[in-house]
Amino acid sequence: MKPATNRRTPFNKPYVGDRALEHLRRSLESRSLSGDGPYTAMCQQWLEEDIGCRKALLTHSCTGALEMAALLLNLEPGDEVIMPSYTFVSTANAFVLRGAVPVFVDIRADTLNLDESLIEAAITPRTRAICAVHYAGVGCEMDPIMSIAERHGLSVVEDAAQGIRARYRGLPLGSIGSLGALSFHETKNVVSGEGGALLLNDPELVERAEIIREKGTNRSRFFRGHVDKYTWVDVGSSYLPSDLIAALLYSQLDEVDEISRQRMELWSAYHAWAKRHEEEGRLRRPVVPPHCDHNAHMYYVLLPTGEKRARFLGSLNGRGIGSVFHYVPLHDSPAGVRYGRTSGRLDVTSDASERLVRMPFWLGMGEAFEEVLRIADEALLDEE
Ligand SMILES: *Cc1c(COP(=O)(O)O)cnc(C)c1O
Repeated sequence: MKPATNRRTPFNKPYVGDRALEHLRRSLESRSLSGDGPYTAMCQQWLEEDIGCRKALLTHSCTGALEMAALLLNLEPGDEVIMPSYTFVSTANAFVLRGAVPVFVDIRADTLNLDESLIEAAITPRTRAICAVHYAGVGCEMDPIMSIAERHGLSVVEDAAQGIRARYRGLPLGSIGSLGALSFHETKNVVSGEGGALLLNDPELVERAEIIREKGTNRSRFFRGHVDKYTWVDVGSSYLPSDLIAALLYSQLDEVDEISRQRMELWSAYHAWAKRHEEEGRLRRPVVPPHCDHNAHMYYVLLPTGEKRARFLGSLNGRGIGSVFHYVPLHDSPAGVRYGRTSGRLDVTSDASERLVRMPFWLGMGEAFEEVLRIADEALLDEE
């Protein structure tokens, strides 16, 4: 192999559009900087129209939106929530904070999403909800998940942190369960640094969601003129972002078609590059079922073994290409062992966590992209 270049291609570089400053300036000039200002209203309306949810509420993070979902479900200590172990910690933490027990089930070998065929075996009298995580912006099998939930009287929360603009059988992710959560963290497709949204599809949850988000007060009703004084009426916290964050978010929602187009182009270029390596057995490419429209959230490959993954990651990073792996399965992590339990074997989860590599993925990679492919080709062929 050639010596390492010193030029570094980061794994992620958040997109900032040309109009971001204009919106931020307008927000500053409005002197409306706390939550629920004009930009928050614009973002929420945009999300409601685009996703078709009953109500969208901006939050400071997807983590916050998931915590709100757990509060809205009135979970009690010992209640169980079925979820994948192959996910980000917030999926589980939100429910653990209520004293609930995450029950981890394995994922499908193709999409790495929750394996819907294993859900029913995990249900007990304490099961209250299923949390479906749409990994890499590819929808979980929501039709069977929704019918299992209905049969057993369970709620469905969609962790659509990675799922903006993706669809399952034509339906936007986050619009199918009773609650959905989006993330606008700087590693996602549409970003405001930190940020998120709770999507409410069940109209009966809307008013209480507004109360929980506003420190347990009926402040939203007060502003709509429904009550003449606002007061503490329920449990709650402060989940709303500053309107400045919403201004930054709005600048990206406004450009989402172009952002998505460019991400899809990059994803397709990676997918075309990886085809030959897949055919020759060096890696496995992501699988997107025909009824799922994904959103080019990330590009990952699965190496044949954990050792090969370690060497591939080492070669890329050693030569200045920022690439990463994830997740450390939650059921294997110290807090997962303490707070959760597993249902059945989690072999696919453990396997994916040992073999997956995420390639650098950001808008405007340009020449850096060609270099990534060149170095990745060399690293893969060196193995032989
Ligand atoms: C990013 C992510 C989160 C957390 O999002 P934040 O906005 O950073 O709180 C939760 N779940 C999944 C699956 C994620 O990818």
